[in-house]
Amino acid sequence: MASDPTASSFYQTVNAYFDRAAALTDYPAGLLEQIKVCNAVYAVQFPLRRQDGSIEVIAGWRVQHSHHRLPVKGGIRYAPEVNEDEVKALAALMTYKCAIVDVPFGGAKGGVRIDTKKYTTQELEQITRRYTAELIKKNFIGPGVDVPAPDYGTGPREMAWIYDTYSAFNPGAIDAMACVTGKPVTQGGIRGRVEATGRGVYYGLREACAQREDLAPLGLTPGLEGKRVVVQGLGNVGYHSAKFCQEAGCVIVALSERDGAVYNPAGLDVDAVVRHQRETGSIRDFPGAKTIVPTNLALELPCDILIPAALENQITAENAPRIQARIVAEAANGPTTAAAERILRERGVLIIPDVYLNAGGVTVSYFEWVKNLSHVRFGRVGKRFEESAFDRLLSAVERATGRAFPEAERRRIVRGPDEIDLVNSGLEETMITAYHQIRECWKRDPRVPDLRTAAFLVALRKVATTYLELGIFP
Ligand code: NAD
Repeated sequence: MASDPTASSFYQTVNAYFDRAAALTDYPAGLLEQIKVCNAVYAVQFPLRRQDGSIEVIAGWRVQHSHHRLPVKGGIRYAPEVNEDEVKALAALMTYKCAIVDVPFGGAKGGVRIDTKKYTTQELEQITRRYTAELIKKNFIGPGVDVPAPDYGTGPREMAWIYDTYSAFNPGAIDAMACVTGKPVTQGGIRGRVEATGRGVYYGLREACAQREDLAPLGLTPGLEGKRVVVQGLGNVGYHSAKFCQEAGCVIVALSERDGAVYNPAGLDVDAVVRHQRETGSIRDFPGAKTIVPTNLALELPCDILIPAALENQITAENAPRIQARIVAEAANGPTTAAAERILRERGVLIIPDVYLNAGGVTVSYFEWVKNLSHVRFGRVGKRFEESAFDRLLSAVERATGRAFPEAERRRIVRGPDEIDLVNSGLEETMITAYHQIRECWKRDPRVPDLRTAAFLVALRKVATTYLELGIFP
C-alpha cells in the first residue's frame, strides 16, 4: 500500500519516505507492510483537577510502532498541537532511527496535548504521574516493554516523576530504574544525556562537512570552521547544537525562538543570548543584533548551515525557494515537508536527515538503560585498574629510556575514563559509523537520490533482517 507522496500529514510523510526506500528493495509486500504499520496505539483521556478547583480533561497517546525488538523506546512530548498522527509519525521515525544507530529497540513515542506554560509545576507533576499510571495500567511502560525519554516540552524533571511513579506501582522491582531514560543523574540518569542529542547533531554535521567531494558541489570548503549557522529553537537540542558548533569554530549568525529571532552576521555568543533571554524573558533586542519578527524569517537568512531544532513542518513549499543555506541539518523531527524537500533537492541543498542526525539522544538513552540494568556506573570498575596499568607501562618506558615524562603529560596519559568520557566516545563512534553507513548506501547505488532515502533503506534492511531471521516471513 503506497502512501501519497504529496500528503501533508506528518505520518503520511514519514510513510512516503519509507515507500520511496521500500521501492528499492524486493522484500515481500506483507513484510514491508508489517515494518511500516504501528503495532499498538493507546489513546487515553484523564481528568486533572486544576489549582483553581476546575476539572480539565487531558488527552494523551503512546504509540508503539515496532515490536520487532523489545523494549520499544521513544520520547514523550508535551505540546498544545500533539495529536495521534504526530505521535505515530514520531514513533515510526524512532524505529528507523534506532536501526540506523544500531540501538536494539523498537520505536515508540508518547504525547500529551498541553501547553506547558499554562500549568503550574504542581499541575505538570500531576499530569505526568497520571499519564504514567495510565501507561502502567495497560503495560505500556517497563524496562523490558516500553521505555520513554524526554522530547519537546519534557526533560529530566518529568523523567524523575515517571520513574518515581513507576517504582511506587512496582515495589521491589530491581530493574525499575530502567523504565525511563533521561533521568537526573541523582535518580539513575547518565552523565551526558542532557546534551546528547545536540552533541550528536554536531558529530553528524562535522562528519558530513568533512567529505570534500560532497561539499564541493555546494560551493563549500570542508570543515566546520567559519561556517555560518542559523539555529531555529533554543531548547535542549537547539541550544546544545548551537553551542557545540560554536565551540568547533562555526559562526552562529542567527538564533530563533517562538517570539522572535536575533541576527548578527559577525556571530552571536550562544550563552550570552541565553543569559539575555533569561534576564528579559525574550531573545529579542539582544545587544548588537538585529531582531527579526516574525520569527520564521530567520530560516531564510544568509548562512551555510540551517539547523531547525524546534518542531515539524517548518520548511515548507512556501519558504523552501527562499532558503539560502546550502546544508539543512535536521536536528528536529520532521522539520522539512516532503514538498519542501523536493524543492531543496532541485536547488542542490544537502539535507542531513532527522532520522539519522538527532539519534544521539536515543543512543545515550540506550547507554543509560544498560547502566540501570547493570546497576553500576560506566568506568567505575575499570578506571583505577587501567590507570595503574598505564602507570606501570610508563614507568617501564622511563626505566628503559632513562628519561622521565613531564608530570602533566604523565597524568594525561595515565588518566582512566570516567562515565562522561565513555558516553561521549560511544556517542561519537556511533554517529560516525552510522553516517558512513548511510553515505555509502547513497553513493554506491545510483537509484538512491539522497541521504534520507539512504537512511530509510539502511534502517528498513536491518528491521527486515530481524523479521526474516525470526522466521516469521519465510
Ligand atoms: P525543547 O522543548 O527543549 O525546545 C524546543 C524549543 O523550540 C523551545 O524553546 C520552543 O520555544 C522553541 N520553538 C517552538 N516553536 C518555535 C519556532 N517556530 N521558532 C523558533 N523556536 C521555536 O525541545 P527539544 O527536546 O529541544 O526538541 C526539539 C526537537 O528535537 C523536536 O522535534 C524533538 O522531537 C527533537 N528531538 C529531541 C530529542 C531530545 O533528546 N530532547 C531527541 C531527538 C529529537
